[in-house]
Amino acid sequence: MSDAETLFERIIAGEIPSEKVYEDETTYAFRDIAPQARVHVLVVPKKRYRNLADLASADPQLLADVAAAAKKVAELEGIAETGYRVVFNTDRDAGQTVFHVHAHVLGGEQLGHFGR
Ligand code: 5GP
Repeated sequence: MSDAETLFERIIAGEIPSEKVYEDETTYAFRDIAPQARVHVLVVPKKRYRNLADLASADPQLLADVAAAAKKVAELEGIAETGYRVVFNTDRDAGQTVFHVHAHVLGGEQLGHFGR
């Protein structure tokens, strides 16, 4: 297992410091170290799956927990009304770098278009 695969588990365990935004029994949310918007928070299920597809197949309840945590983060960050984007990068073409599924919650300003 590479460092990239264990990074978020180490953050959840508190072995690597992070700026926590929200936590519950099954998820942990913290600020991205390289924010791509004024608000950029990562929501990570405490149990590791490689990507969204694996999580959706194996544990739909946990996927629902991640979605609920993203909603909670938006409320806590004051962007629930102004709008926000939730992104799950999956594998090479999306540029996924950490293979522990996570939702990016982005907002706090007008976001650009996405895609190519
Ligand atoms: P991905 O590219 O896999 O969709 O997203 C991984 C995210 O993790 C990136 O946005 C990157 O900035 C963030 N990241 C990588 N290492 C760290 C770290 O040590 N701490 C925090 N808070 N974020 C990190």
